[in-house]
Amino acid sequence: MNRDRLKKLAADERFIAGIYNYCDRWCERCPQTLHCLNFSLLEKEFSDRETQDIRNEAFWKKLSEILRATLELLGETGKKWGIELETLNSLGATESRRANDEAVENHVICRAAKSYSEIVEDWFRGRERPFFETAAVANEGVDLEEAFEVIRWYQYFIAAKVTRALGRKMEEEEEERCDEFANDSDGSAKIALIAIDRSIGAWAVILRYRHLHVGRVLEIISFLDRLRQAVEATFPRARSFIRPGFDSIDLNILVSGIES
Ligand code: SF4
Repeated sequence: MNRDRLKKLAADERFIAGIYNYCDRWCERCPQTLHCLNFSLLEKEFSDRETQDIRNEAFWKKLSEILRATLELLGETGKKWGIELETLNSLGATESRRANDEAVENHVICRAAKSYSEIVEDWFRGRERPFFETAAVANEGVDLEEAFEVIRWYQYFIAAKVTRALGRKMEEEEEERCDEFANDSDGSAKIALIAIDRSIGAWAVILRYRHLHVGRVLEIISFLDRLRQAVEATFPRARSFIRPGFDSIDLNILVSGIES
């Protein structure tokens, strides 16, 4: 692409500035490809984008309905995974980048998020193919395939975003940028939380195939739910972070904030 074409594309008003900063990089499933400059730069194919965006939005809505229902049903399944997420380490200020990295690596939610990646790997090991075959016989393969896809997409993404959020939080604390406004760390934490939510929804889909011996799915959901709560506790403002293009501003909250 030549420079003029690039400049013209960047000036196109249909693109939302910074939309790709807090997304999950899953362009195939993104409901905002039409408004993403990054996508347009990477993709040559522009046809049928609108239909794809609508379809993707419907897909995520469906998954979030499953998540809601699952969280309502989620009972106590025991704290079997060896990490007490409730006992969060405090984010002590550290002097060097290296010390920060070490503190991030050792932070309980970071370790838990990494454990989750391994738990997923463990669960899928030797299971994916036979499970698919059996499910296909059961004639219910599509939902299952999508659920697998979602879990696999976020398997490492969650840990990566949690790590980034913690790292940024430490930097912001050092820079004393802990003001009343949401920070970059909250944006990373928010996309990690969304990935956790969606993964819980996807595991809940697998749970429907209980008769196919799905193993420890309920425990995995419980683990993820506790990770979710721990991330929310560490980043209390993450859920209200507004991601350009994906979240809308609640005008009522804004007005009441201005009035108070
Ligand atoms: S905003 Fe959507 S299209 Fe753009 S990079 Fe992120 S996932 Fe891909």
